[in-house]
Amino acid sequence: MNTAPFSFELFPPRNATVAARMPDIARRLGALGPEFISVTFGASGSTQDRSLDVLKYIRETTTVRAMAHLTCVGASVASVSAVVNEFIDAGIVDFLALRGDIPQGVTAAECFDELSTAAELTQLIRGIRRSRIPGELAPVAPGANRWRLREHRDGIIAVAAYPNGHPESRDLQQDLDALLAKQAAGANLAITQLFFEADDYLRFIDQARSAGVTIPILPGIMPITSVARLRRIVELTGEPWPERFADALDSCNSDAARRELGVAQASALSYDLLAGGAPGLHIYTHNRIDEPVEILGRVGAISRAQAEAALIEPNTASTSAQ
Ligand code: FAD
Repeated sequence: MNTAPFSFELFPPRNATVAARMPDIARRLGALGPEFISVTFGASGSTQDRSLDVLKYIRETTTVRAMAHLTCVGASVASVSAVVNEFIDAGIVDFLALRGDIPQGVTAAECFDELSTAAELTQLIRGIRRSRIPGELAPVAPGANRWRLREHRDGIIAVAAYPNGHPESRDLQQDLDALLAKQAAGANLAITQLFFEADDYLRFIDQARSAGVTIPILPGIMPITSVARLRRIVELTGEPWPERFADALDSCNSDAARRELGVAQASALSYDLLAGGAPGLHIYTHNRIDEPVEILGRVGAISRAQAEAALIEPNTASTSAQ
């Protein structure tokens, strides 16, 4: 079966109850056969230990690549190097290199120490990897039929990309230049910020390819099942307000209807992206299992049996976790 490749993002649990469920969440998502599972990293290293715990669960409960997000905002070369070395010591060799958001009330000049862009962080991680792990980072190339990261034997340094522009960017060219700088620094994969229209991504791919970006650019998909979450996400990411989707969510009269709409929107978007040539799907799971499984099932990336197995609870607790 030539199904679409996919990957997941998890975030470190915020309380002990969810922490206890994380190994099970990692195991069940891992059993679906993602190319990798990435784990977010709080700005200024605020979640460092909890991020590492989740990465370790992925390694212990699955055979899937565990990818660590790392940020460099406000950090020194020495402190970031110590984190990279600690992660490599724990067996984590794949990274998503990010600058991180500038905290509110602080200027960029006040906030950056020795590292001020994700490109610089990429270069630092690449240097440390080189000294610790023999061999260069190979380009991620499409497999015989489909892009398969699982079959890529070398490490991954992924970076962020913004189909609708980063909020701090003057224009598209600045975003393309930033992405090219990250590629030149050694990144071999990009993962996008969420967006709501397939054309946003497909247009950006054309522009990036024309500008010389050659690395795969994986679209980030986020199932959004409430207006409150939509507001929070748009505020956090600076994405344009998706009028039509927001109105449709607003007019739903039950949680079940909002959930169905969110899953349907993410599934239709995923379908259009894959049909348009996207190399796979990166799903922001919010530590949930059921919506990602439904989306993957609807686009035919997993079988019905896989979906049913993933939804079996080990106990009677709900399948969601924050
Ligand atoms: P960069 O690529 O360094 O730059 C962002 C923008 O700054 C560029 O688009 C460009 O406009 C400008 N810029 C960069 N370099 C230059 C230059 N040399 N000259 C002029 N302008 C420049 N945040 C977290 O805190 N933790 C996470 O785990 C996390 N995970 C994420 C995962 C994904 C897939 C994405 C898309 C974002 C994630 N973020 C995370 C958010 C991210 O940290 C923010 O979007 C941040 O504001 C920018 O990070 P970056 O790595 O894109 O920065």
